[in-house]
Amino acid sequence: MMGGNLALESEPGKGSKFFFTLEFDESSSSSEDYMGSFSEYNCAVLSSADTPKPHSQFIYNYFHYFGADVKFYSDFNSLKNLIYRSGCNIIVADYEDLSKDEIDEYAKIKLPIIIILKATQQSKFDLLKTKYITPIYEPINMSKIIRILKAGRQFLPTKEAPEVKPRITSSYGKKFNADVLVAEDNEINQKLITRTLQDLGLNVTIAVDGLEALEKRKQNNYDLIFMDIAMPVMDGVISTQEILKYESEMSIPHIPIIAITANALKGDRERFMKEGLDEYITKPIKKDSILNVLNIFIQDKIDQPQDESDDIQIIHNKEKQEIANDDKSKKTIANTLKNNILVFKKSPIETKIFSSIISKMYKDVDTAKNIDDFKEKILNDFYRLIIFDEEINDLKTSEISKLIKDANLKQQVGFSKTILFMDSTTHIPEEEKLLFDAVASNSINKNELDRIIKDNI
Ligand code: MN
Repeated sequence: MMGGNLALESEPGKGSKFFFTLEFDESSSSSEDYMGSFSEYNCAVLSSADTPKPHSQFIYNYFHYFGADVKFYSDFNSLKNLIYRSGCNIIVADYEDLSKDEIDEYAKIKLPIIIILKATQQSKFDLLKTKYITPIYEPINMSKIIRILKAGRQFLPTKEAPEVKPRITSSYGKKFNADVLVAEDNEINQKLITRTLQDLGLNVTIAVDGLEALEKRKQNNYDLIFMDIAMPVMDGVISTQEILKYESEMSIPHIPIIAITANALKGDRERFMKEGLDEYITKPIKKDSILNVLNIFIQDKIDQPQDESDDIQIIHNKEKQEIANDDKSKKTIANTLKNNILVFKKSPIETKIFSSIISKMYKDVDTAKNIDDFKEKILNDFYRLIIFDEEINDLKTSEISKLIKDANLKQQVGFSKTILFMDSTTHIPEEEKLLFDAVASNSINKNELDRIIKDNI
C-alpha cells in the first residue's frame, strides 16, 4: 500500500491491532523561512473576553515570528482606534465574534482582513469574500497566513513620501563608530536590526519598550536612537516626548530619534515630526535606509569613509539615473535650490541637526564651530541666509546683526537675511526682534523650518 507495510495482530475475544508504516518525502515548502519577513504588518486581532479563542495565541505567535506587531482588541471602536493611533494595517477576526452590522462595517475598511470560519460555515465564505476580506477555515496554519500576507501587501497604505533620500556627499560612510539605542519590542526584529547595525560597526543597546528606552536614555548617552512606534507599556511617540522633556529639563543635548514604523499613513510623517521625532524609516528595515539616516545624523562618527573611487561611482550612477529618469526627477533637481546658508546653533548637535535637515532642501549649507569661526565666516563669505541662536554664550545678537550689515556693505553682493532662533522660555525686547528678518522657536518642526527658510530666501 503506497510503498508501505500493513500488519495485523488479532486475538479472539479481545480485539485487533493494526500497524502500518508509510514513507513520505519531506515537504519542500518548510525549507523557506519567513522569520522577520512581514515586519511591515501591524496586526489587530479580535479577542472577545467572553469567548477567548485558542487560535488567538497561534496568530499572535505567527505574526510575532514574522516580525510584525500584534495587538488584541475587543470591539469595533477599539479597532478604529488601533488603526488610527497605532497604524494597524491588517485585521484578524473570528466570524462567530462578529454581528451582522459589524461585518458591514468591516467591509468598508480598506485594509487586509482575515475572517476565520469553521469548516461547517461554508455557506458564509462567498458572502464574506471581498477584495480586502479573505475568509479562511480552521485550523489556521502558517502557510494559509503567509499566502494572505503576501497577497495583502498590495493593500497596505502606500508611503506618502519617500523616506530619507541618500545624499551625494564627499564622505558617505559605510562604517560608523557610535553608540545607538534601539527600542523595539519584537525579538525577531531586535535581532535583525542589531545584526544590521553591528555590521555597520555600531554599538547597539536594546530597550524592549518605550519606558525602558526612556530609562536607558536617562542613564546613558547615545549618538542616535531608533524608536519603534507600536510598543507595549509605553509607545514610541510617548517615549520620544518624555525623552525630549527630560533633555530640556536637564538642559542636555538632544539625541536624534528615528521612528521605525510599520507603515507611513498619509499625514504620519507630519505627525511624527510634530511629536518630536527627527526622521523615520519604515519596516521592513533596509540597510540602505539605515545607512542614509546614519550619514545624515551621525556623520561625525564615520569610521571608514567610502573610498574616493566609490564616491565618484555613486555620483556617476546617480547622474546617469537622473538623466535617464523622467520629468519627475528633473523637478526634484530644480527643487534643490542652490543657496548659501550659514547655521550656528548653541550646541554642536543642534547645529548638526539643523544643517542636515536644511541641506536636504538646499545646497551649500555651512556651519560655524564657535563664535570666532562664526564671525570670520560672516566677514569673509557672503551668505544669503544666516541662522543662529539667541542663547549662545558670549554672543550679543545686536552685535552680530551689526557685523552682518557691515560685512554686507563691504562685500557688495547683497544683504543677508537673518533668522534668530530662541527657546520658548527666552524673552527678548520687541525692538531687538526687529533686527532680524524672522524670529523662530527652537521647538520648530521640520515643515515649519522648511517654510520659514523658504519665506526668507
Ligand atoms: Mn513593535
